[in-house]
Amino acid sequence: RQYTAEDITKMVKDENVEFICLMFTDINGIIKNVEVPVSQLDKVLANKITFDGSSIDGFTRIEESDMLLHPDLSTWLIFPWGEEHGKVARLICDIYKTDGTPFEGDPRVNLQRIIKKMNDMGYTHFNIGPEPEFFLFNTDSQGNPTLHLNDDGSYFDFSPVDLGVNVRKDIVLELEKMGFEVEASHHEVAPGQQEIDFKYQDALAAADSIETFKLVVKTIAKEHGLYATFMPKPIQGINGSGMHINMSLFNGDDNIFDDENDQLSDLAKQFLSGILKHARALTAVNNPTVNSYKRLVPGYEAPTYIAWSSKNRSPLIRVPAASGKSKRIEMRSVDPTTNPYLAIACILDAGLDGIQSNYDLMPEVKDNIYEMSEEKRREEGIVDLPSTLHNSLKALRKDEYVQQSLGKGLTNSFFIAKNAEWARYQQTVSQWERDTYMSQY
Ligand code: GLN
Ligand code: MG
Ligand code: MG
Ligand code: MG
Repeated sequence: RQYTAEDITKMVKDENVEFICLMFTDINGIIKNVEVPVSQLDKVLANKITFDGSSIDGFTRIEESDMLLHPDLSTWLIFPWGEEHGKVARLICDIYKTDGTPFEGDPRVNLQRIIKKMNDMGYTHFNIGPEPEFFLFNTDSQGNPTLHLNDDGSYFDFSPVDLGVNVRKDIVLELEKMGFEVEASHHEVAPGQQEIDFKYQDALAAADSIETFKLVVKTIAKEHGLYATFMPKPIQGINGSGMHINMSLFNGDDNIFDDENDQLSDLAKQFLSGILKHARALTAVNNPTVNSYKRLVPGYEAPTYIAWSSKNRSPLIRVPAASGKSKRIEMRSVDPTTNPYLAIACILDAGLDGIQSNYDLMPEVKDNIYEMSEEKRREEGIVDLPSTLHNSLKALRKDEYVQQSLGKGLTNSFFIAKNAEWARYQQTVSQWERDTYMSQY
């Protein structure tokens, strides 16, 4: 909803809101929050709240560290919990510099830059339907997560096996109170694993929703004495958690990924060719943690190869059987540790490159890639996804196009943060190594 400053002022009064959380995200997609009492409302609405950006990951600017919060009034929302200490509402903000221009290092500002590029090319909406998955773990007496999953249900199981069902129901109810349109929720394949799908939304709103979603899930799980994690592969030997991204380009009400025969339109295929072209570099952004790559291995329904198919789910891109407004492509590599603003900006921009450059689209893969021989894959031109964070960072380093989708500042901060993460991991000697090598050598 588009609200005016007057609407907000009125809602604050009518609902007795006492605090306003001004939210934005750092480069890792972690929600940052400046909480102000409603006495500051006028200042909030005049875009005059400042904060020190120098200690936020990815925000460091040497010249100046004072930044301004420009709340996006359409993101107004009263949190349905914690009212005992006064009602809290939130507004998601864009970050501006003190000279009054948007800060390019803000992932949300950057996404809007790419959306503008899309609009300039003549498309009005990039619709995104995310399918985030997560695990629910039992907690110990201190409230810390244990490694005990809270149920041993499986795909689409129903209670009483699925103990997660009550938590999931509560999460869905809270989400609906907050204006989410939840399309489906179900137990996932692994024990303790859940999925909640919400209806597609335009790119910016979808990224906002993904961030809010993670907050809601963690909050409600905690109320049930459980710990929710979006870590991609918390337990080896069972499926990890992904966040499939369903996408389509719209012109007004018209889905231009759908052709008159309910097939993928030529434009959708061009878009797809761009995603495949940049797939290796995109992986750094879509799968930005060391742990992300423990999920992207064969055998656990996560993709490992760059290919597309309408027949099976082993490749990076699936074209679900759907038509009309639902015609879409599904990117299956993305996991919930991604910063959704960065991921959606880079995916969209890669697709736009496909439209502008019209790359050759590799033929659709009809067989299960997991079962293909290496030779057959080579014949079909199927390349693998990067196998580690290190390799995907190298791929991003080589892909100047995707770097410019992030912009200079974000690219720099991303490499600084992620190279350091990789270095820390590489220096870690794990129990697996001791178990394997200590007695052998
Ligand atoms: N959990 C799987 C993954 O890692 C996806 C399973 C599914 O949604 N079919 O991507
Ligand atoms: Mg699903
Ligand atoms: Mg799923
Ligand atoms: Mg899916």
